[in-house]
Amino acid sequence: MNLQLLRGRDLRPPSRREQSVPTAVSESNIQNIATTAIEASARKKALRFPVNPGTRAFYRRFYPDTTTAEWNDWRWQMRARIRTLAELERIFTLSADERGAAAQHSGALPVGITPYYASLMDLEDASEPLRRTHIMVGDEYVRLAGEEDDPLGEDHDTVVPGLVHRYPDRVLFLTTGTCSTYCRYCTRSRLVGNPGGEYQFNVRNWDRAFDYLEAHPEIRDVLLSGGDPLTIGDDKLDYLLGRLRSIKHIEFVRIGTKVPTVLPQRVTKDLVKMLRKHHPLWMSLHFTHPTELTPEVTESTARLADAGIPLGSQTVLLKGINDDAAVMKKLMHGILMRRVKPYYLYQCDPIKGSGHFRTSVDKGIEIVKALRGHTTGYATPIFVIDAPGGGGKIQMAPDFVVGRDGDDLLLRNFEGKVYRYPDPDGTLGRDKLPDAAE
Ligand code: SF4
Repeated sequence: MNLQLLRGRDLRPPSRREQSVPTAVSESNIQNIATTAIEASARKKALRFPVNPGTRAFYRRFYPDTTTAEWNDWRWQMRARIRTLAELERIFTLSADERGAAAQHSGALPVGITPYYASLMDLEDASEPLRRTHIMVGDEYVRLAGEEDDPLGEDHDTVVPGLVHRYPDRVLFLTTGTCSTYCRYCTRSRLVGNPGGEYQFNVRNWDRAFDYLEAHPEIRDVLLSGGDPLTIGDDKLDYLLGRLRSIKHIEFVRIGTKVPTVLPQRVTKDLVKMLRKHHPLWMSLHFTHPTELTPEVTESTARLADAGIPLGSQTVLLKGINDDAAVMKKLMHGILMRRVKPYYLYQCDPIKGSGHFRTSVDKGIEIVKALRGHTTGYATPIFVIDAPGGGGKIQMAPDFVVGRDGDDLLLRNFEGKVYRYPDPDGTLGRDKLPDAAE
């Protein structure tokens, strides 16, 4: 007898579950069996997602009745987000500043932290970087000169609700006001996390956006943002992407998201299977600090990269959080290892109450200077200021031009050494002081 046949799937003895299935089943029984099978398969998939040891200890302590399958279910994470002062106090030892700030908050940009992301934070130390980015403090209510609710002037360029058309060939499509976590320095703090507020996101507004896009053949590039588009369910997101793809002149769709970092469990195999139908699709992933580089994030980014989605990063430069060359280098190396190209390093936008987060512009240049040439070029992001008032991104870079000497352009390299480049037709460097050359 063929031994392989004996080991084959059809010849194995029925499992305990299969034995318990009644031979004659009613309609409702069939439905129950189907639901159980779906739930079992979801549970099995959830169990295949990694849980790092620190996070496991956290959820056993604070969510003792939660199974690993629930913990790894992104919808459970969304439902269980830390949203109130009482929930914050259950988990964190709050400083008086944090407690007071959380108690006085109302309106948009509420507190919102996935239990997973909370598990990466220090529960005692209010100065810990990730915690500072998500738990408000009193400085958030201090408006400094030059700070605005809408510093990038997006409302001014909004053509239909949720659609910002500033540049000739591309648009920003604000799909939802929901995020999985709310960053205290958010550029769109005026509109996120406030369902009954001034800004409304719904399919009726999406339809108006589709009509606008169809009527504007010059638009070839759509950036989906919000809020976070990956908080939208698979079917609805599939509809949105499919609808955009049906507009012939749209060549390129990008998604800006923080979900793979703060809610990595959202990157399910079903999600990536759906996303890969809509290529070419690119993603910009929001990272802040090396603490975020967990096995869970290794998994979420691997799934997206394996689906053929080119991944770039965006990081906001934040005072006392990541404004240090060694911290930034570690972050950039870590995301590069996860097949995400470090793309933008942003100077923090002057939203109201952002003074405690904003560094000088010099600090960003200093960090880029510490990276450029000192590590892999791929690991060096472009440092930009998104110009207030809607001026767009302006690159800020260290100046490596020393001056000119006759036909030679004098350049300083990353080690501070000066080199000559023969450039007889050039003018670059003529305006430099002659004694600037070493
Ligand atoms: S995830 Fe993005 S949109 Fe949401 S709060 Fe953070 S920065 Fe703002």
